[in-house]
Amino acid sequence: MDIVLVQGDITEARVDAVVNAANSSLLGGGGVDGAIHRKGGPAILAACREILATTHPEGLPTGQAVATVAGDLPARWVIHTVGPVWSASEDLAPLLASCYRESLRVADALGARTVAFPAVSAGVYGWPMDDAARIALTTVRTTPSRIAEARFVLFDPEAHAAFRAHLPR
Ligand code: ADP
Repeated sequence: MDIVLVQGDITEARVDAVVNAANSSLLGGGGVDGAIHRKGGPAILAACREILATTHPEGLPTGQAVATVAGDLPARWVIHTVGPVWSASEDLAPLLASCYRESLRVADALGARTVAFPAVSAGVYGWPMDDAARIALTTVRTTPSRIAEARFVLFDPEAHAAFRAHLPR
C-alpha cells in the first residue's frame, strides 16, 4: 500500500472513499464532518438516517465505521468513523487505531482501491496531533488490505508536518 500525505481539503479528494471523522449520532457536526455534509449534499445525511433507523438505532459506537454514498463529492463513498474524545486519564489509543482498521475493512469490502483519511479525533475531540499522527500511520501501515493508496489529507501545515515526521523515509 502506498501511503501519501497531502495538505488540503478532504472534500476535494479524488479517491474511491473518503473517511469522515463523524460523531456517533451520524447527523453531522463541525469540522471535517460539517464540510463533508455541506459539500456532499443531502444524500449523505439521508443514508446516515437510514443506518440509524436500521442497523445502529443507538448511534455508531466509537471505533467503528460504516459506509454511505458520497452524494456530490468526487469520491464514491464516505466511510463514517467515530473517534474517541481525547482523555488524559484513560488510554484510548486502541479505539483510535480501531477507527483506521475498521475504515480500511469497510473500504476493502466496498472494493475501494484509494482511500482518503483526515486526522481523526485531532480536532474538536482534542487528540494531540503528534500522537494522532503516530497512531494513524502505524495502524494503516500494519493493517492488511487490498487498498492501493491510503492518502492522509491534512487540513493545515502543522498537521501535515506532524504526519510527515512519523513517515519512515
Ligand atoms: P474530531 O471531532 O474527530 O476531532 P474534527 O473534524 O474536529 O474531528 O477534526 C479532525 C481533523 O480534521 C482536524 O485536524 C481538522 O483540522 C481537520 N479538518 C477539518 N476540516 C477538514 C477538511 N475539510 N479536510 C481535511 N481535514 C479537515
